[in-house]
Amino acid sequence: MKRVLLASPRGYCAGVERAVETVKRALALYGAPVYVRKQIVHNSHVVRELEADGAVFVDSVHDVPEGSPVVFSAHGVAPAVRDAADERRLTSIDATCPLVTKVHTQARRYAEQGYRIVLIGHAKHEEVEGTTGEAPDAIVLVQSAEEAEHVELSDNRLAYITQTTLSVDETREIIDVLRRRFPHIEGPAREDICYATSNRQWAVKELLGEVDLLLVVGSRNSSNSLRLVEVAHAAGVAAHLVDDASEIDDGWLADASVVGVTSGASAPERLVSGVCDWFRARGVHDIEEFRSAYEDVVFRLPVELRRAERSAA
Ligand code: SF4
Repeated sequence: MKRVLLASPRGYCAGVERAVETVKRALALYGAPVYVRKQIVHNSHVVRELEADGAVFVDSVHDVPEGSPVVFSAHGVAPAVRDAADERRLTSIDATCPLVTKVHTQARRYAEQGYRIVLIGHAKHEEVEGTTGEAPDAIVLVQSAEEAEHVELSDNRLAYITQTTLSVDETREIIDVLRRRFPHIEGPAREDICYATSNRQWAVKELLGEVDLLLVVGSRNSSNSLRLVEVAHAAGVAAHLVDDASEIDDGWLADASVVGVTSGASAPERLVSGVCDWFRARGVHDIEEFRSAYEDVVFRLPVELRRAERSAA
């Protein structure tokens, strides 16, 4: 093992920064406990740290005591969840990523105009559950090119939307199949895969020509992290998903001279630093950035939180 190359961009996206900061600021404003519906972002380290600060993660707003503050995660919620929170008189703070909200808005608009909507995404992912909740009678989920080949759609007005954290290549294949089978299907000018997901996949593709192995820092339930592993596998490069440095297996490195490291959009940079320390402890000091793109996206905190902070000042 001689060298480590760090993919860039990697790690936190603007939506994750905003969601994590939202929980921290809500804790400062209301004091513990602040309830969070589902994992605020799909990273076990982030969730454990916020728990230590007083956040309580729950599966349903029905688990939140009446009148308490509750934060909705970055992945978004169905309108029924907002209604249930209002019924329980919860103080709702919506940390849904604005790029997910954009997809919800598209779903609502298409449904209002009588479209049948194909949602390209993964069943059971919280984002897909939230988006589907906007128009449950109009949305049909398609998860693969194979499903796109067989889905039955007889409606005159058809549109597609996508989950934000998919594989760029696989999604193009699915859209190609849908366009071939339903030439009149409408969709966004660019698919809804977000800038952070596509930039991280692009950075990995650029890096793959230089490395023998890729390590992706991210949790098992992080969709965009899993996609980064798949991008490497599709190019024939060995890749492993690790939650942190403690999960690296020395055996993986036996035949590797150069190792690439990246991290999913919900993985804090200190976990990547931990991986670099792991390599340094094994005598690898040649650790360099491999930059493919620059990012400067920042989202403002949820308006209801900013307002509450102003009133408390
Ligand atoms: S991965 Fe994309 S859609 Fe998800 S929180 Fe980050 S910026 Fe938003």
